Amino acid sequence: KTNEPEEVTRTVCTYCGVGCNLDVATASGEILSITAPYDAEVNQGHTCLKGRYAFKFYDHPERLRSPMVRKNGVLENVSWDEAYSYIVDRITNIREEHGPDSIAGISSARCTNEENYLMQKFIRAVVGTNNIDCCARVCHSPTALGMQRSFGTGAATNSVIDIKYTDCMMVIGANPTAAHPVTGAKMKQAAMKGTKLIVIDPREIELAKYADHFLQLRPGTNVALLNMMLYYIIDEGLADLAFIENRTEGYDDFVANIKKLDINAMEAITGVNREEVRAAAITYASAPNAMSFHGLGVTEHSQGTFTVQQIADLAMITGNIGRRGVGVNPLRGQNNVQGAADMGAQPHQGAGYMDVTKPEMNRLYMDFYKTDKIPSHIGYKIPEMFDAAIAGDLKVMWIIGEDVVQTDPNTNKVKKALTSLDLFIVQELFMTETAMLADVVLPGASFLEKSGTFTNGERRVQRVNKVVEPIPGTKADGQIIVDVMQRMGYDQADYAPDTMLEEISQIVPFFKGITWEELAKNGKQWPVPEDGSSTEIIHIDSFKRGKGLFTYFDWRESEEIVEHGAEYPYIITTNRELEHYNCGAMTRRTGNGEILKEDVLLINAKDAADNGIADGDMVCVTSARGKVDIKARITAEVKPGVMSTTFHFPEIMVNLITSDVHDSEAKCPEYKVVAVKIRKS
Ligand code: SF4
Repeated sequence: KTNEPEEVTRTVCTYCGVGCNLDVATASGEILSITAPYDAEVNQGHTCLKGRYAFKFYDHPERLRSPMVRKNGVLENVSWDEAYSYIVDRITNIREEHGPDSIAGISSARCTNEENYLMQKFIRAVVGTNNIDCCARVCHSPTALGMQRSFGTGAATNSVIDIKYTDCMMVIGANPTAAHPVTGAKMKQAAMKGTKLIVIDPREIELAKYADHFLQLRPGTNVALLNMMLYYIIDEGLADLAFIENRTEGYDDFVANIKKLDINAMEAITGVNREEVRAAAITYASAPNAMSFHGLGVTEHSQGTFTVQQIADLAMITGNIGRRGVGVNPLRGQNNVQGAADMGAQPHQGAGYMDVTKPEMNRLYMDFYKTDKIPSHIGYKIPEMFDAAIAGDLKVMWIIGEDVVQTDPNTNKVKKALTSLDLFIVQELFMTETAMLADVVLPGASFLEKSGTFTNGERRVQRVNKVVEPIPGTKADGQIIVDVMQRMGYDQADYAPDTMLEEISQIVPFFKGITWEELAKNGKQWPVPEDGSSTEIIHIDSFKRGKGLFTYFDWRESEEIVEHGAEYPYIITTNRELEHYNCGAMTRRTGNGEILKEDVLLINAKDAADNGIADGDMVCVTSARGKVDIKARITAEVKPGVMSTTFHFPEIMVNLITSDVHDSEAKCPEYKVVAVKIRKS
């Protein structure tokens, strides 16, 4: 063995939606190191702690290395042939007995576009149901829906490079220096050089230290706070009336409602002084170019979709759309969450956002897939899958790369749903909390062991290039899906990323000009028309829906607080830390696991003192769903009455207490408002 690299392969980070390019050095089929290429447009020589160092999970001794089938209650290693035969027989029988809508799949935003495309194709064209969803449901589904309603498309309007050109950044419900670190670092640098920065968050995140305005609102009050900002923009005469007249509709009704707002009430609801909100509104509206960035602190609320539409209202009322340095820019969590939705891993829209309920779209889709099986009714969204499983209507679930037991809200309910199924299939890298409950476990390959494409948060489709061969016993997720499709009698070509991409470009309108070869350097931002050009900014002359739509929303107290606030007087909001990614299945198995070893409860000194809790004490936190014991860290980052924690560690299982109240529109769970009581353990 040598420590001198024999080969360097360019690929894309598997962690967050920034989509950093990585140069991976190998020798004798082993990975030696990862560096950040300076010629990569996305990250220009930078990565964070996760991208550069957290890769040793790929050959960790705990990687799954054989398919398993549960026999007499125990998961036993079997051959791929036996696992496939078992799956095909069971799915075929259950479909005959209970119909195709008794089967559902959850695809993975950690898998490639091609794999997501194949999974939705399998569920729709082979099984014959629209019961397909992905993790976007529990993170950015309100972004997609809200932006589609306001603009006609749910993707970021601009690019990260626009941070260089903007005069004002508004960051709401996002913690970029921990969750999107390379973009977060760019924001920090811009703020230090004088770009105005507005931070809206219940927690004093790192960027708040660099902010001109930090609005520390009570969790669950985004709608009230944004209404205040909209009120002051109108009140100060800062609305861009020419833009509103030429490019939008619905403004008159919208303004009439905003003018009726009771600012005293809004101030009390949000807990933010009105003059601070007025000052922030003036800064945003008077900047020549202002950008907004939002994350799960916007979407994971019962009014998540409405908040996204208000952010769109803010951009439109100030004319901040369609040029450099402006727009609405969601910060996508998982590396390929944009791609999973683009590829149709959602129950109402197929690949390319084709509405399956519209007869002409449905026909086009069925003709393309040479099937007459795709129904015209919307399938189950993830929370509906759990409800249907508990009700006995859903019999089969197939989940790829998603630890729903650890990461979906109300863990006990999720477990009840999964254990109610007749057949539960999990495709994974490790024996996660979810995989432990499966009837069949299929060992997938990591991003370092396969090729395909990921689409980052700025709509950039980039090549993922295989660095090493799959660990013996594992297969690329796309290969597994193709194997099952073929065994179920569907005429599916063998798996190859370039030919899959070619098929996708024929059905997804905004992929028309994408080819595998031309993505090799820096990828392309969709829409990519036939001439192969890349698009940095969308909605330049008109919105996808024609005119941008203004919509007013009343703030509503979260059901969680209305129902449980009296008994559970504190609010917990969940967050992420730099070192770990989501359920932590990958990062906990790297050196990052040594840096951050546990979830902790961030608690204000007053709340700690009121409950006799000292720093480092174990605290029993109880909600209407369950309880957890977690170590206290006393901090001024959160205000009295508000606490915060992560869910990276299964030892704590924070989602035992989170609420399965959902966004009223997109059904995204409200992880950010959890009513709790506390006592020293
Ligand atoms: Fe990976 Fe995101 Fe870090 Fe870049 S910023 S290295 S994409 S986790």
